[in-house]
Amino acid sequence: MRFMPPLAAVAIIALAACGASQDASTQKTAVQPNGQKLNIYSARHYDSDRLLYKTFEDETGIKVNFRESGASQLLETMKAEGENSPADVIIASDAGTLYRFQDASLTQPIESDTLTSAIPPHFREENGNWFGLAKRARVIVYDPARLNPKDVDEYTDLADGKLQGELCMRSSTNIYNLSLMGELIGRLGEDGAAAWTRSVVANFARPPQGGDTAQIESIAAGECSAALVNHYYWVRLAQSNAPAQRALTEKTRLSFPNQDTDGTHINVTAAAVAANAPNKTAAIQFIEFLTTPEGQALLTTETKEFPLVAGATLPSGLSDLPDFKESNYPLSQLGAAQAQAQAIYDRAGWN
Ligand code: FE
Repeated sequence: MRFMPPLAAVAIIALAACGASQDASTQKTAVQPNGQKLNIYSARHYDSDRLLYKTFEDETGIKVNFRESGASQLLETMKAEGENSPADVIIASDAGTLYRFQDASLTQPIESDTLTSAIPPHFREENGNWFGLAKRARVIVYDPARLNPKDVDEYTDLADGKLQGELCMRSSTNIYNLSLMGELIGRLGEDGAAAWTRSVVANFARPPQGGDTAQIESIAAGECSAALVNHYYWVRLAQSNAPAQRALTEKTRLSFPNQDTDGTHINVTAAAVAANAPNKTAAIQFIEFLTTPEGQALLTTETKEFPLVAGATLPSGLSDLPDFKESNYPLSQLGAAQAQAQAIYDRAGWN
């Protein structure tokens, strides 16, 4: 974990930044610090995010402090800090995580024409409590030596008895799996989602374990032939300088499920303005910056997420993936379904 420097009381001289900011955008020279600051609490851990913060600092003169930690730890920290929390912006990599902050009254609704026009409604909370900024697809990774593409082109294929003993999965407590279940409940109904889950569990090759990358490794090692992963874990391996990592992707393929029906399940890296943000204006300015072509590139180049805003440059490695149909399921509905989703997993024995 990183801790921010102690917060000093500073005079905020907002107007001083305006003229200089315009110069910076044309000349690309750093704006002098203007006494404003921004405190970011992020559940992301990427070197590229430091460059992102630095770029925002240079273009605005606003000093960025950041704290990176696991999402649940950040949530507990903010609860403990209460009204005195220095957090201005919360960043997390799943809409279901942002829901947890919103549910704990740690976010505030924001009105921004820039954000509502750049971000489609299904990728943001309807009252502006959080905004999706980069997309991730939850796909099926499989062994092409053991399965045909048609065997795994729907999420419901994973429940087929012919995949008995063939599936590796991550724990159901992981937010990516809880969010996917949220959509499955919406698509299949509670009973349908529960039946799917029982059948998927019956197809497990081993008890749930490891992160998304571990599932890809297990398939490459022949332990199982299909698993659910976020697309970017596979793309990062494919783009790796390490031959052993690239070899994992030579032995495996990605299937973007449900192309003939609702489309592939999508989630987002998203940001919220903290309920007691001391620097609310800067917080909104930062989130708006993330929707610019530059912000989108800085957010996704290393992570291999898909830019969410139309017109942004695609990170390397993503153009090798097929064009695919995305689900437009409203992500704000996934959070409220979390308890129900966990109960379905628990009852089916998906630990
Ligand atoms: Fe991830």
